[in-house]
Amino acid sequence: MIIVDNLRKTYGPTQALKGVSFNVAKGDVVGFLGPNGAGKSTTMKILTGYLLPTSGAASVDGLDVVDKSLEVRRKIGYLPESTPLYSEMLVFDYLRFAAEIRGVPGRRLRDAVDRVVGLCGLERVVGKNIVELSKGYKQRVGLAQAMVHEPDVLILDEPTSGLDPNQIIEVRKLIKELAEQHTVILSTHYLQEVDAVATRVIIVNRGEIVADDTRDDLLARASAQAIRARVRGPKHNILSQIGELMPGRRVDVTWSEGDYHDLRVHVTTDVRDRTVPEALADLMIKNGWALAELAREQVTLEDVFRSLTTSDGGAA
Ligand code: ADP
Ligand code: MG
Repeated sequence: MIIVDNLRKTYGPTQALKGVSFNVAKGDVVGFLGPNGAGKSTTMKILTGYLLPTSGAASVDGLDVVDKSLEVRRKIGYLPESTPLYSEMLVFDYLRFAAEIRGVPGRRLRDAVDRVVGLCGLERVVGKNIVELSKGYKQRVGLAQAMVHEPDVLILDEPTSGLDPNQIIEVRKLIKELAEQHTVILSTHYLQEVDAVATRVIIVNRGEIVADDTRDDLLARASAQAIRARVRGPKHNILSQIGELMPGRRVDVTWSEGDYHDLRVHVTTDVRDRTVPEALADLMIKNGWALAELAREQVTLEDVFRSLTTSDGGAA
């Protein structure tokens, strides 16, 4: 459905995309994950025909996004990062307008608007001025305008950013429902969003794709393990000695202050490597630090994400 081939984009001296390639099959729900500045919005703007690539190509349903920009836009529903809602309009009028400019014929406008009002749960606010709506409802209006012309593909740029936790849950639920009938690319820097919605994850960092896999395979492939420990001892020594213990491996320690420190030691090494918990236990005992707990933990998507997107580079 979507083919992206070696896209590059430079803004003056900034290389925002350094050769991005991926494919999306019909029906896929892809989480496009990456920290701020990774190039998510730039990729989406190129796909939706709002920005020209510096080089490379992309197509949607066989149509080149540059040469066939208008046709591509008919196939795509796009929710940009900052939703451009016309706040002085009634919800109904705005959706009707959105349908009109995307070529929905006059006699079908009413039905098109009714359909998205139902899909996005806007019945209660359809006669209100957009300016009166809560942020969650504004985002639903944004989704509704993206779908009013019945596109096959939805491209949603950080659809839940800026919402409160309840609104996030609601908008995710809505996206999940929409994902049943659409091909979706959704950008986010929230891992939970990928867990909640996507079946596939593309991780992008500094203009490059660093992972492209199903959520489950990404976890399985991650050569990393995590060990949780509860230990009492001098913070500084604990941290420095854990680092020294595993030279050549990437070690991340998160931990809590307190009488006992709750450590979470994330090590990039083969998951089957049993020496890591053993070595940690030995270290605690040798130093006479009280060890109240030691257990292996599931590696999370967050571990994978961190090991792939922090500055000293990829591990998996
Ligand atoms: P993301 O959406 O992942 O946060 P963006 O695609 O917005 O990332 O940005 C990628 C890079 O391109 C960043 O370094 C950003 O500062 C830069 N950038 C984005 N838009 C512009 C622009 N209009 N002019 C100059 N630099 C830009
Ligand atoms: Mg962005």
